Amino acid sequence: MTMQFAKDAPIPNPGVMDIAAYVPGKESAPGVAKVYKLSSNETPLGPSPKVREALENVLQHLEIYPDGSATKLRDAIAEVHGLNTANILCSNGSDELLGLLCQTYLGAGDEGIFTEHGFLVYKIQIMAAGATPVIAPETGLKADVDAILERVTERTKIVFLANPNNPTGTYMPADEVRRLHAGLPPHVVLVLDAAYAEYVRRNDYESGIELVSANRNVVMTRTFSKIYGLAALRIGWMYAPAAIVDAVNRVRGPFNVNAAAIAAGAAAIRDRALVDRAIAHNDEWLRRVSDALTELGLEVTPSVGNFVLIHFPKDGAHTAEAADAYLTARGYILRRVAGYGLPDALRMTIGSAEANEGVLNALKEFLR
Ligand SMILES: *Cc1c(COP(=O)(O)O)cnc(C)c1O
Repeated sequence: MTMQFAKDAPIPNPGVMDIAAYVPGKESAPGVAKVYKLSSNETPLGPSPKVREALENVLQHLEIYPDGSATKLRDAIAEVHGLNTANILCSNGSDELLGLLCQTYLGAGDEGIFTEHGFLVYKIQIMAAGATPVIAPETGLKADVDAILERVTERTKIVFLANPNNPTGTYMPADEVRRLHAGLPPHVVLVLDAAYAEYVRRNDYESGIELVSANRNVVMTRTFSKIYGLAALRIGWMYAPAAIVDAVNRVRGPFNVNAAAIAAGAAAIRDRALVDRAIAHNDEWLRRVSDALTELGLEVTPSVGNFVLIHFPKDGAHTAEAADAYLTARGYILRRVAGYGLPDALRMTIGSAEANEGVLNALKEFLR
């Protein structure tokens, strides 16, 4: 006897087919020999030379499973940041962590809040967990504490704040982050995504360490993909209260961080000279690029990260779409950000001197 079933094919969980899949930054320009990839906020300096040596050691024993608790990496992070190793959990990129936090704290009927032009992975992971994404409007391309708090209901379980935010480059000062936290009920997890924290040079900025230490419902996430130049290896981490670390540890894959990532991350984070060089390069070029673009008559959102959001006229010959085509044809790949609700802007990563000057010269010609 054959059994009768209501469906004749596998059906994804509710919400899954409503997800707009993440589109990574372009990496090639057809027909152009030399390409400058300024579309994914990668560092022009590359990783620490110490990483190569660490990886060569890993190659000796690829048959052995990695340390499932990534202790060497967590110890190195703890040492550099002055934290307790027990409160650090590592992941396969911080994107994985954003998903793990959603899986751990969200289910059907729950709500997760993020801001209007916030990082797209939040929405994807909230929906993947079967929960409802709730968007808080921003004011002047900045996250707005009151707008977030107004959207909190008893179903809210998680609030994501990228600080600084990608793709806008804006940040929320520490006193505002504290006001946000103070307004949240204790059962809501506040996730402070500090992927660009190392680049920020503002006295009123905090990455979230103090707030995590003093509370039971705050998590700070970080990445090795940006200033450490290890995007290819996928290394993220969070600093979180013990109960949150314990919960996420139960959900994550037992070997979610591979051996190359553990070794490379531990070597990279101890190379403070490279971090200093990356900061100095960014300070100089963020200012030069922002000033030069403004002089060309383009509006630039003031950024504290390693990228700038450049605004173009809505109509006419100089739209963001036209600029993107013009730059791509010359090998300069920026990021279109229509998916972030910013159809008239391009995001440019601060690259090498050659790349930055090339973009500035090309845009000058484009606007002529
Ligand atoms: C780049 C980025 C990350 C880091 O992602 P990884 O998965 O660690 O590479 C996280 N959050 C934001 C806002 C980012 O821009």
